[in-house]
Amino acid sequence: MIKGPVDHVVVVGAGLSGLSAALHLLGAGRRVTVVERDMLPGGRAGLRTEGGYRIDTGPTVLTMPDLVEDAFAAVGDRMADRLELVRLDPAYRARFADGSQLDVHTDGAAMEAAVEKFAGARQAVGYRRLRNWLERLYQVQMRRFIDANFDSPLQLLHPDLARLAALGGFGRLDARIGRFVSDERLRRVFSFQALYAGVPPARALAAYAVIAYMDTVAGVYFPRGGMHALPTAMADAAADAGGDFRYGQTVQRLERSGGRITAVVTDRERIPCDAVVLTPDLPVSYGLLGHAPRRPLSLRHSPSAVILHAGTDRTWPDLAHHTISFGAAWKSTFRQLTRTGELMSDPSLLITRPTATDPSLAPPGKHLHYILAPCPNTTIGPGVHEWRELGPRYRDELLGWLERREMPGLGAAIEQEGLVTPVDWSAQGHAAGTPFAVAHTFPQTGPFRPRNLVRGTTNAVLAGCGTTPGVGVPTVLISGKLAAQRITGPPVAPSRRTRGTAV
Ligand SMILES: Cc1cc2nc3c(=O)[nH]c(=O)nc-3n(C[C@H](O)[C@H](O)[C@H](O)COP(=O)(O)OP(=O)(O)OC[C@H]3O[C@@H](n4cnc5c(N)ncnc54)[C@H](O)[C@@H]3O)c2cc1C
Repeated sequence: MIKGPVDHVVVVGAGLSGLSAALHLLGAGRRVTVVERDMLPGGRAGLRTEGGYRIDTGPTVLTMPDLVEDAFAAVGDRMADRLELVRLDPAYRARFADGSQLDVHTDGAAMEAAVEKFAGARQAVGYRRLRNWLERLYQVQMRRFIDANFDSPLQLLHPDLARLAALGGFGRLDARIGRFVSDERLRRVFSFQALYAGVPPARALAAYAVIAYMDTVAGVYFPRGGMHALPTAMADAAADAGGDFRYGQTVQRLERSGGRITAVVTDRERIPCDAVVLTPDLPVSYGLLGHAPRRPLSLRHSPSAVILHAGTDRTWPDLAHHTISFGAAWKSTFRQLTRTGELMSDPSLLITRPTATDPSLAPPGKHLHYILAPCPNTTIGPGVHEWRELGPRYRDELLGWLERREMPGLGAAIEQEGLVTPVDWSAQGHAAGTPFAVAHTFPQTGPFRPRNLVRGTTNAVLAGCGTTPGVGVPTVLISGKLAAQRITGPPVAPSRRTRGTAV
């Protein structure tokens, strides 16, 4: 915990981690100023408004709303008063190269029936066992390894570590899932989430099945008004609780006296502070602190993504809110994304159709589609320079795949379009041209991930996807809370929802 006065905290960045930190700090009675370079909250969970479309630029799969509720509850607010969440059913539609498809239901009985119809009774039994394993894995990990501030790897030495090992958490994800379901297509449905962690399922720790727990068991939600309604609601709650937001200001340096930061200096003003929470990408935060911790190995970044935003005058009703269009290739796809640095030759794509749930996100009679194509980061794949020329060609290639597989006539139906490539992620300051930060390889996980405290500065805490616990909406919400706890101390008693899971 940070020592000395911590009455006024400056949070740098109004992304989801910064907003979570702000709410938890305000709830603990601190004075909070949030400085954000953009004119809106959200950061990577951003918004573009074009031609009457409200386009979410970042996350589309919202899981674990209890963590959102915790952030509101910190200031005595209720999520239900700020945000309307729709539970998506199916959570995903998985479409395979052989023409088969499976709707992923988060209700256990409905999913078991769907699996039986899709792949037979034995696979349905395997699914039931898999679901039970995912639930136990989540219970063991959340309590000790995700929702936890680490000061030493020795903290891992706890009976939960043995429980995690007994559950097979230190084996490989793909192999472990295969013990429950042997159908190749089902294995993909429960292991593709490893890509969210930046690691191929064949190499990811089985412990990362916790992401499959979050979306295939705990459920996928969508805020009415779009994903950006989430950061907007959090920022409103923080402002109503007394948070002071300074938008359109970039933090340029930190003033210090010895080991303490005494003021945050933006391009417009100097803001004195007692403590600071830094949420930009790690290189930016380390740059501001003037110190980057030395590591035995250099940090490895996750793959990146190309996003095609397509506002269209028609839609394709076979697409659910979220559809995963799997290519026939699998292992080679991950090899291309994480090893050889090539573009996927037989892509697997996430297609999101937000207007399936909320038609108000497009002009009347129009539809919005968000297509995410994973691609290598710029360290191992094409660099920013190459992407400038490659981007438009890759857009055409993607359109070709989409027209052949899921969305015939897409090209002719587009009336509003946006393409986002690693050029754009780099321009936003994201290292290695990826918005998915440092990968969750074993040496970059838990207590081995860059810590949220930095040696040499006594009153600064890091938050966000580069530090613990990691990338994703649920994890950065936790990261903001953990950063706040570094300043305020851990909660005296666990809150109602996290009882038994808090550190
Ligand atoms: C395309 C995409 C799809 C994704 N899909 C999903 C998904 O479906 N589900 C899921 O759970 N997660 C998903 N994620 C991951 C998740 O969105 C991120 O991990 C999370 O939003 C990151 O939040 P953050 O607070 O760590 O960082 P950020 O959102 O980047 O927040 C940092 C903030 O700091 C600001 N800032 C930076 N430098 C300065 C400075 N010098 N001065 C002032 N302000 C500064 C930035 O403008 C930004 O607002 C996705 C991410 C992307 C980009």
